[in-house]
Amino acid sequence: MTLADELRRRISADGPLPLADWMALCLGHPTLGYYATRDPLGAAGDFTTAPEISQMFGELLGIWAAAIWQQMGSPEKVRLVELGPGRGTMMADMLRAARVLPPFRAALDVHLVETSPVLEQRQRETLATAGVALAWHQALEAVPDGPAIIVANEFFDALPVHQAVKSRQGWCERTVALDPDGTFVLATGPAETALAERVPEFWRVAPSGSVFEWRDAAPVEALARRVVHGGAALVIDYGHVDQGLGETLQAVRGHGFADPLATPGEADLTAHVDFSALAAAATAAGARVDGPVTQAAFLQRLGIVARAERLKAAAPQKAADVDAALARLLAPGKTGMGTLFKVLACADPALGPLPALSETDP
Ligand code: SAH
Repeated sequence: MTLADELRRRISADGPLPLADWMALCLGHPTLGYYATRDPLGAAGDFTTAPEISQMFGELLGIWAAAIWQQMGSPEKVRLVELGPGRGTMMADMLRAARVLPPFRAALDVHLVETSPVLEQRQRETLATAGVALAWHQALEAVPDGPAIIVANEFFDALPVHQAVKSRQGWCERTVALDPDGTFVLATGPAETALAERVPEFWRVAPSGSVFEWRDAAPVEALARRVVHGGAALVIDYGHVDQGLGETLQAVRGHGFADPLATPGEADLTAHVDFSALAAAATAAGARVDGPVTQAAFLQRLGIVARAERLKAAAPQKAADVDAALARLLAPGKTGMGTLFKVLACADPALGPLPALSETDP
């Protein structure tokens, strides 16, 4: 059975699926979902990410984590947790960079939160020689308590997104329904007051056809609660700082855009991360929130330009590759990652301003 068959069966039996459920099943169905069935990263896959573009990305995050550990008072044990570690590349680069501060590396106990068996296997291979204690979990809740530094790159964009569509009757949930010929089509449920209340007040009077997207706040609340008594969490993703109207759900397959309904489970589905919603949820959970700042500002403050110079000096034959990666990570606009991607941290309020994220940083 294909995922498309399974989704047709569910919709025929139970009626249209809310878009967020569609996204959750396409990505996360335990046997037929996108992540359960493949490693989507790299040239042969569907998309690439900052740690796959350059080792500099993970290395600088390793330095950031070491600075946080010092800010925490250099605890004897700290959990280094990654959500959605992909191929394990970023963690491998972080751990290599952590060698600059041996007591930090010695304090590390690494936990990887991953639902995909294919990617977990890949991470085990990448990290086999890392030389630190490693553990895998299906959810953040399973990571044992204690001071933690948590990182998540391109994790939140893969979490299910809801869409409310304004109609003349009010705000309605976007769903996926079936045409009589078995094609998946977008539809909307009935107008609901509870949905209207999701939409920021300023936007409620928007014209018919307007779309508002939101995600369940539980994952970010859990993240914030996990660090509020010791530690910090760093979220890096593409998204927006100002909450507004518009739909950003997209499907990507083979490094190009695809139709989010056409090939369920075969294309990556993501939507922009609403950083103001993340910040509000983390603040409400009692965390200190720093940022969001752009990825370009964050990486520059951590010294990416100097790191690139050192890599080029050490391997002049790779200078053009290093420059190309640097440009891609820092470039503004829709095609570069420098300003489209944002970085936000939530932390134990006792830590004070976090490196590379506060307004006083150069
Ligand atoms: N951070 C990596 C990979 C990003 S792709 C990088 O930057 O290269 C998204 C990752 O999140 C994959 O590893 C995917 O399997 C994982 N993932 C998606 N949904 C998840 C969930 N609900 N819980 C845990 N991991 C999840």
